[in-house]
Amino acid sequence: MKRNIPFGKPIIGEPEQQAVAETLASGMLVHGPRTTQFEQAFAEWAGGGHAVAVSSCTAGLHLTYFDLAIGPADEVIVPAMTHTATAHAVELCGATPVFVDAEWRTGNMDLDLIETAITPRTRALSIVHFLGVPVAMDRVNAIARQHDLFVVEDCALAIGTLFQGRHAGLHGDVGCFSFYPVKHMTTGEGGVVLTRHPEIAQRLTRKRAFGVDRHVGERTQPGIYDVTMLGFNYRMSEVEAAIGLEQLKRMQGFLSRRSANYAILAEELRGVPDVRLFAEPNGDTRSSHYCLSVVLEERLAASRAAIVATLSAAGVGTSVYYPAPVPHFRYYREKYGFGEDTFPVAAGISRRSIALPVGPHLVEDDMVYIADSLKRAIIQNR
Ligand SMILES: *Cc1c(COP(=O)(O)O)cnc(C)c1O
Repeated sequence: MKRNIPFGKPIIGEPEQQAVAETLASGMLVHGPRTTQFEQAFAEWAGGGHAVAVSSCTAGLHLTYFDLAIGPADEVIVPAMTHTATAHAVELCGATPVFVDAEWRTGNMDLDLIETAITPRTRALSIVHFLGVPVAMDRVNAIARQHDLFVVEDCALAIGTLFQGRHAGLHGDVGCFSFYPVKHMTTGEGGVVLTRHPEIAQRLTRKRAFGVDRHVGERTQPGIYDVTMLGFNYRMSEVEAAIGLEQLKRMQGFLSRRSANYAILAEELRGVPDVRLFAEPNGDTRSSHYCLSVVLEERLAASRAAIVATLSAAGVGTSVYYPAPVPHFRYYREKYGFGEDTFPVAAGISRRSIALPVGPHLVEDDMVYIADSLKRAIIQNR
């Protein structure tokens, strides 16, 4: 029996709908109590730090670099294998992203290559936990300390990611999370910046709202405020925060389902010829299990489109993380002149991988079906 298995699907139920209705009825759509509650709940959930709710992960990254006054004279180390937002946030400040290739074992940035990419202009390290698998943050922080660099964790796929028992985003100076619909939880659009530094949280809270010195609730006279710094409008709305509060209550359940689904799918795919899985961390270092990406052997690379089409015909939704190394996208290629032979590992992952769903919209049976469909698709298109 053919199934219909989307790659990602937000789980929105009665609690979210009711929370949205209540928020709309309250008449308070921004600057309200829900955003503050959500920030507190998120930091509590992560086990520490200060959370600043923003309009997206990209906004959070941009806000962070803007706050650091990173500009045209500066460079930021960025993994080649990531979402374009990771690099765009650097470009938007007029600074230069310096791309570093991935490692085959996990798809994360190859930490052995960081030191050669550092120059006197380097200000920050941008770390991405690829597909939710944590980067070795002890090594990253050692490099950062040695070269006096700021560490920004792009945690868009890392809600639930732990490195040595501590949540992603709390290892570096700042961590930016995404609540885009296919991520681990959603607020429609939205994001949060988590930071260990209270003074950074305080500044970002001002800069996400025009750099105004007191928001609506803090004004002694209505309409009277001063502007003490430059800022954006990168706020999260009360409706988004209300959805986020409900989603957070379900996070543990979402993560358990993901982890169970991943384990079943990985077991089903064990020993299948011509596909390789990324390494799975263990103990108190944990993946958030965003998806299960299989990497096809080189000789099957040309058949990827056909395999994906066969899966699609069987009702299995897939994706590719990410469709090209960021430096190979046209904007970056044309600006910086990267050739096709650069960043070979990231390029290989882009060309040869298929991301399979493990989200909480799926159950054990679906995982077996996905595995069987993939095995059949490979045999058909070999
Ligand atoms: C999805 C994603 C982003 C962008 O998140 P938005 O909330 O849509 O801005 C940034 N970085 C990574 C690694 C992502 O996967």
